[in-house]
Amino acid sequence: MSEQVPLLDDSGWDWEPAPRHPDALRAVVERIRENDDWLIVTHERPDGDAIGSAFAMAHVLAALGKTWRFVAEGPIPERFHFVPLSEKAYVDVDHVDRKFKHVIAVDCADMARFAYAQKFIEDGADIVNIDHHYTNPMYGVAAWVDAEAAATCELVYHVARALQVSLTKELATCLYTGILTDTGGFAQPNTTREVHQITAELLASGVQPYDIAEPALESRTWAQMRLLQMALNNLTVSSDGKYAIIYVTQGMLEGAGCTDDDTEGLVGFTRSIDTVEVGALFRETRDHRVKVSLRSKRYVDVSKIAQAFDGGGHTRAAGCTVSGDLTDVIDAVVEQIERALEEAKR
Ligand code: 5GP
Ligand code: MN
Repeated sequence: MSEQVPLLDDSGWDWEPAPRHPDALRAVVERIRENDDWLIVTHERPDGDAIGSAFAMAHVLAALGKTWRFVAEGPIPERFHFVPLSEKAYVDVDHVDRKFKHVIAVDCADMARFAYAQKFIEDGADIVNIDHHYTNPMYGVAAWVDAEAAATCELVYHVARALQVSLTKELATCLYTGILTDTGGFAQPNTTREVHQITAELLASGVQPYDIAEPALESRTWAQMRLLQMALNNLTVSSDGKYAIIYVTQGMLEGAGCTDDDTEGLVGFTRSIDTVEVGALFRETRDHRVKVSLRSKRYVDVSKIAQAFDGGGHTRAAGCTVSGDLTDVIDAVVEQIERALEEAKR
């Protein structure tokens, strides 16, 4: 084993809050120190935390004089184009011409979450796994999984600090983006004291909250608004008021002039209903499958429902993709939602 990396330092970072798993952080930091050429990967349909943590890692590696490539599983949605370096994600095979021996996976609950990037990963490559999904099986040669963290960006913040990288405005913008979006604008139950301590420090770098919140959370294209109008037309709530569902067909996406990514945020409307505990959004895909997004408020573990359909996620936000007709998938998932609500009563 190499020498232990000191976690406390005099580089000007305020050493509060402390990381919850210093040994796991140390293992991650040692791997990063020891190797100079990295592939960064994150999950399909990348969200603010996936994008923020991937580009934050890119900034950290660049600051350490290391080389990096980021192969994204899909295009970076336009609302995240303000994220520094975001033009440097590769979603096109032609732009990456080699395989990597060292890989950093951020925000990926399992290795299937970066299926596309596999073609750029050498057999037996070393994978460093940084994530906050409690279902993560701790794959990789070094794994730091902290389900208490609101966002993977919270963990990358600690990685950057332990590596004594300067907190530039660019790095802070990436980290702030992930924490802001994964806490639903500091509103979800995962919003902690640590979250506010970290974001307070990020603001010291010159980050302006509204410059990030406006594109990342508030702004919608006119096409997205048209889709919202259509989708709200089919919003339904159960007779007991405990769950609500909303769906989006390929026809609706076409009619509104939207892409698949434009459903982001729609599921929130199901959970907004005061009586609702579980909300679900169903989106038809082009290949006869249905992407399901699940949210809950206080007591139902929606990750269990998603896992019943080979998906996953967090207790209050989870998802899965299910083969079949929209109506069949809705029926099957609703059955599981009703069961989960019934079980929660006992
Ligand atoms: P969303 O509904 O916004 O797509 O996803 C909510 C949460 O569930 C995110 O943490 C996301 O990573 C996770 N999630 C969504 N779909 C899947 C899936 O198919 N498999 C797994 N393992 N997690 C998912
Ligand atoms: Mn996340």
